[in-house]
Amino acid sequence: MKVLVINCGSSSLKYQLIDSDTKQALAVGLCERIGLEIGCLKHTPAGRDKTVIDARMDNHEVAVSMVIAALTDKEHGVIEDLSEIQAVGHRVVHGGEKFASSTIITNEVIDAIEECNDLAPLHNPANLIGIRACKSLMKDVPMVAVFDTAFHQTIPDKAYLYALPMEYYEKYKIRKYGFHGTSHSYVSERMAEFCGLDINNSKIIVCHLGNGASISAVMNGKSIDTSMGFTPLSGLVMGTRSGDIDPSIIEFIAKKENKNLDEIMHLLNKESGIQGMSQVSSDFRDINKAMDEGNEKARIAFDVFVYRVVKYIGGFIASMNGVDAIAFTAGVGENDPKVRYDVCQYLKFMGITIDEEANKLRGEEVMLSTPDSKVKVAVIPTNEELTIARETVSLLK
Ligand code: ADP
Repeated sequence: MKVLVINCGSSSLKYQLIDSDTKQALAVGLCERIGLEIGCLKHTPAGRDKTVIDARMDNHEVAVSMVIAALTDKEHGVIEDLSEIQAVGHRVVHGGEKFASSTIITNEVIDAIEECNDLAPLHNPANLIGIRACKSLMKDVPMVAVFDTAFHQTIPDKAYLYALPMEYYEKYKIRKYGFHGTSHSYVSERMAEFCGLDINNSKIIVCHLGNGASISAVMNGKSIDTSMGFTPLSGLVMGTRSGDIDPSIIEFIAKKENKNLDEIMHLLNKESGIQGMSQVSSDFRDINKAMDEGNEKARIAFDVFVYRVVKYIGGFIASMNGVDAIAFTAGVGENDPKVRYDVCQYLKFMGITIDEEANKLRGEEVMLSTPDSKVKVAVIPTNEELTIARETVSLLK
């Protein structure tokens, strides 16, 4: 089955056409600067060169029609006709408490996603625009919504409630939701297979370390806790996000720097984290280079990042009363041997040992732990688009 996977942002649209039988992406691409004077579509058919088309895309419907044109183009297309696209899977960031799993998109589902807009004002409205654009251009093609939050709906109340007056949960649903759910779900499942564990009788920690980063505790295949919270700002130190801080810092900075709330939220989301601490970059490749050159702020940023990861891993091992396996994934987790090595050094006390040669590999599935290690440690490259395609197919079958 050929599934078009759409990940729609406010001014961008990422897509992949995936053959769910072979699990291969037939084409991947990205529309940028939608709604601006000059936009651009980058389209790469599998195994062939990237085509870049500059064009004005007034809205997402125009962008979707350009994607369809690129996919069916005589030269760089990968299908003859639109009718070959049998389903569309949409990434939706926030499903609130309404969606604990993926769902076939109906008008009622669209309304319910809209009701979650408050919880993800930057993302959900954009996701809905993508859904509506596809609906109007591919009327008879079934569509599925796959939520970033859904996998974490199994987290128990003791882990998802904040110690605020209960009416804030009751009135506004302020609670931990967790994100990166498709990645945590896919990687935990694949990790169990890779390590020969029965997922229904397993304790797995997934470290999704990318520009955005989160850790989850997955017990018997279900998420029981995760580091992100009400929004993707909390938990680990990230590329430009602070992760956990003492909330009183917000008031303190507001007074000292005469900043309003919007400015402080911008500071915490866009100017903090690895970027803010190192004053070098949000990218670990630049941080590693700067550390090699003796840059002290880069080293501190790196160490704070690793230490926070370790604290979450330690906490989640206690939450699950043990751990069978720890998986590293996403940009940093898949590609940065020093992050993995430093994290595992902290965990030596519990009998975790890793093979330093295996740890040098980047971007591929590999067992890092030595045969005598008490806990399996591996790199499992994430594949959120394939997970969305698989979910889409399984719901429609
Ligand atoms: P997101 O999906 O959250 O935008 P990714 O999972 O794509 O992020 O991760 C991107 C990050 O991965 C980069 O910012 C960089 O820090 C890190 N990264 C990518 N390649 C490497 C590499 N070779 N070595 C170290 N870090 C890398």
